[in-house]
Amino acid sequence: MDAIHIDTKLRADLAVREMLAATFRLVPDVPTTVTTGCGQQVPLAMTSGDPDAVTCLPCRAFAQREHLRLADLVLDLGLAPGSVFTASQATGAVAKLRELAAKFGAPPPR
Ligand SMILES: [Zn+2]
Repeated sequence: MDAIHIDTKLRADLAVREMLAATFRLVPDVPTTVTTGCGQQVPLAMTSGDPDAVTCLPCRAFAQREHLRLADLVLDLGLAPGSVFTASQATGAVAKLRELAAKFGAPPPR
């Protein structure tokens, strides 16, 4: 079975696409291939943002690092004066990102 990877944008493009579709009824084209955390170009269907689905070990390590980096970034933004996040929003997001990082740091499914 082919490995399941994560894309380098952690599927943020998909979240943006869904938001645009929901808000403006715009549905931009879905990319046919994406760049993975392990540096390959693969079909979007061969990627996932779910730690229970990603089987590629370098992609799991990439996702763990990126989620920890994002958690630190959100924490910094949440504590900045005039932040668009409240402290409790930032704390909640940081906890979720760290939880995801921990799941990607665990052994892959099966
Ligand atoms: Zn990979």
